[in-house]
Amino acid sequence: MKALQYRTIGAAPEVVTVPDPEPGPGQVLLKVTAAGVCHSDIAVMSWPAEGFPYPLPLTLGHEGVGTVAALGAGVTGLKEGDPVAVYGPWGCGACAKCAEGKENYCLRADELGIRPPGLGRPGAMAEYLLVDSPRHLVPVDGLDPVATVPLTDAGLTPYHAIKRSLPKLVPGTTAVVIGAGGLGHVAIQLLRALSPARVIALDVSADKLRLARRVGAHETVPSDAGAAAAIRELTGGLGAEAVFDFVGVAPTVATAAAAVAVEGDVSLVGIGGAALPVGFGHLPFEVSVTAPYWGSRSELTEVLDLARSGALAVHTETFSLDEAPLAYERLHSGEIEGRAVILPHG
Ligand code: NAD
Ligand code: ZN
Ligand code: ZN
Repeated sequence: MKALQYRTIGAAPEVVTVPDPEPGPGQVLLKVTAAGVCHSDIAVMSWPAEGFPYPLPLTLGHEGVGTVAALGAGVTGLKEGDPVAVYGPWGCGACAKCAEGKENYCLRADELGIRPPGLGRPGAMAEYLLVDSPRHLVPVDGLDPVATVPLTDAGLTPYHAIKRSLPKLVPGTTAVVIGAGGLGHVAIQLLRALSPARVIALDVSADKLRLARRVGAHETVPSDAGAAAAIRELTGGLGAEAVFDFVGVAPTVATAAAAVAVEGDVSLVGIGGAALPVGFGHLPFEVSVTAPYWGSRSELTEVLDLARSGALAVHTETFSLDEAPLAYERLHSGEIEGRAVILPHG
């Protein structure tokens, strides 16, 4: 089968032919309908050879939707042709976190060498994808696969972050979304669907700010040195009760710190690598700062149910598998509106 692989440190990913996977006991083989292109892959492909955490070559793609193609021995409850989405942050299934469905925070994944598809294991940018357990599949009947596939990460990750802050987002409050890309443009819609907060979106690109307004941001502000002051002005000096940073570089983290309200939340979702010092006098009183990772199995079900209610309009641009390297180039240069989605079967 054809697959998009990252093969050489520092080189662009390539479309290659690899052996067709076959499901072993307990596994499920999917025919991939759609696979999402995440900025995290670009971060992975920028890491140096020394300390690179995954075996190469690596088939990319940690957002996947497909139909069941074959069941390994002992798998029940699914049949050929069933449309499913892949829950990506695989865990052991048995530790205390996994028992709660929080496989993203599995306590034993590292020790057992368990990795998500596309981030250590062969991913969804291929004609077929091997899924380690039916536990990691969620039915998506009735949903459009292209609009749905980004929800497995670009939807689930902001959903998890936003859910933590919902008790603070009462009427009259403000939420800030920094970076209106794949994750951010879904975050704006999640905030509008789940809270009465006013939503202010920040980006460095005028096109992305236009997209932010189209998907529901009440206000947009250029992400520059004046952004925090603009947010303070829009909030009568109080700042934002929740700031979600989908970039995570020094200037955006500084904006988050300067724009958050007393007792507010800052969620650093972007993996730009910047840190935010927490300590008395560093931030407004009792601000809570977190760096979340992906989301739980039950949260993925909730996001898909929200999509079924019609509350989410994910913007996508589709590419064939042969065009997948171009999709990464375009994401890298900031030219994708919403999420790029690869269609391995055309
Ligand atoms: P994307 O490229 O689709 O979107 C990034 C957006 O940020 C773009 O619109 C870009 O114009 C904007 N941007 C860039 N610099 C900016 C700045 N200084 N100020 C404001 N906006 C700026 O990327 P994505 O796929 O949505 O991913 C966003 C981030 O989230 C990445 O760092 C990615 O690695 C990370 N991520 C983290 C998790 C997690 O679990 N923590 C999960 C998925 C993605
Ligand atoms: Zn991702
Ligand atoms: Zn576990």
